[in-house]
Amino acid sequence: MDQKKLKDHKQIGQELELFFTDDIAPGAPFWLPKGMVIFKELEKYIRELTEKAGYLETSTPIMVKSEIFKQSGHWEKFGEHNMYNLQLSDETDDSKPVSYTLKPMNCPESTILYRFRPRSYRELPLRLSEIGRLHRREKSGEVNGLLRVRQLTMDDAHIYATEDQIPDEVGSILDMMIEFYKSFNFEYEFRLATRPDIRAGTDENWGKAEKALENVLKEKGLKAGDKKGDGAFYGPKIDVHIKDAQGRDWQLATVQLDFHQPEAFKLEYTDEKGNKPRPVMIHRAIFGSFERFIAILTEHFQGVFPTWLSPIQVQIIPIADRHQKYSQIVLEQLKDANIRAELDNRQETMQAKIRDAQTQKIPYMIIVGDREEKEKKIAVRTKMGQDLGALGVEEFLTRINSEIESKV
Ligand SMILES: [Zn+2]
Repeated sequence: MDQKKLKDHKQIGQELELFFTDDIAPGAPFWLPKGMVIFKELEKYIRELTEKAGYLETSTPIMVKSEIFKQSGHWEKFGEHNMYNLQLSDETDDSKPVSYTLKPMNCPESTILYRFRPRSYRELPLRLSEIGRLHRREKSGEVNGLLRVRQLTMDDAHIYATEDQIPDEVGSILDMMIEFYKSFNFEYEFRLATRPDIRAGTDENWGKAEKALENVLKEKGLKAGDKKGDGAFYGPKIDVHIKDAQGRDWQLATVQLDFHQPEAFKLEYTDEKGNKPRPVMIHRAIFGSFERFIAILTEHFQGVFPTWLSPIQVQIIPIADRHQKYSQIVLEQLKDANIRAELDNRQETMQAKIRDAQTQKIPYMIIVGDREEKEKKIAVRTKMGQDLGALGVEEFLTRINSEIESKV
């Protein structure tokens, strides 16, 4: 691909009316209706994957008392300056301000969900997912479109498990990541990130956690590169790096083993013998952040999204005004089948309408004229300029639905 002709996601986002940023909210995107279609499709996909894998969806507050991040260790590690903190006066006593934080991550609050009631070994592994909105105080010079934002949406999950359950849980997370990244035709690579210099927890637990991750990779026959010293402060992790169409390397998915947070928040469960050991906490994200992932997808596909992600999947183009009525019938048939279709009924030439549909990267154009109306068919063209000829609507629906289903 000619690098010079490539557009960045900010330009494509403007041209296709997907998203933009404005000085009124630096580092936080505004999503236009078409961009929101992509966002929602990805949300749907990740929900399908997690539900299939036995996750239970949850939601935790965006604004919480800062003390939770002191207890988790994030306050010390990231510094209060990397978070959005608000000093609010106590309603009953002005002299006692209370510090609140817009959560930069979901993990500490997930432990509150776990502690909601006593847990038994029978409930483990307990897989709690959350599509959470986070705030991180990135420096203004580092904020960049959707790639580096101050407000992000994470496809997060925390799994509470016994130590024996680690291999199966981490293994099935790696499977999920492979399934996910294959569906976008990304090349992917695993990297094992080990203990950093500044860390919480004992060396014994670090050794145990690193070994556990190594073993899972070995058992699954997966090769992993090294990221020495790049683990989270509470535990080692396996990161997934992908290569996009331009050969650039991105770190997206992550699975992290954590013995520290269960200790910091005194999490426990009752085992078969009535003892109360601590569960292990496994953190995982598949996209990392929706914003960043959509930026990468937008540049990877250069706005030519696969049909399942395309904001408009079909543009119907009547050749003349007299074909409006039949076009409307076709439109209703497609909409009834949950296809995102639009009818271009502007007073423009057919050529101009075809050009516009191509500029908007719409996967399919349906041209409707006298012959199509008479034969009760539709003339179908693809965005690649391929002419599929005259098809029945049902025949076309079978084709486009299987394309959407297989995410090609
Ligand atoms: Zn987490």
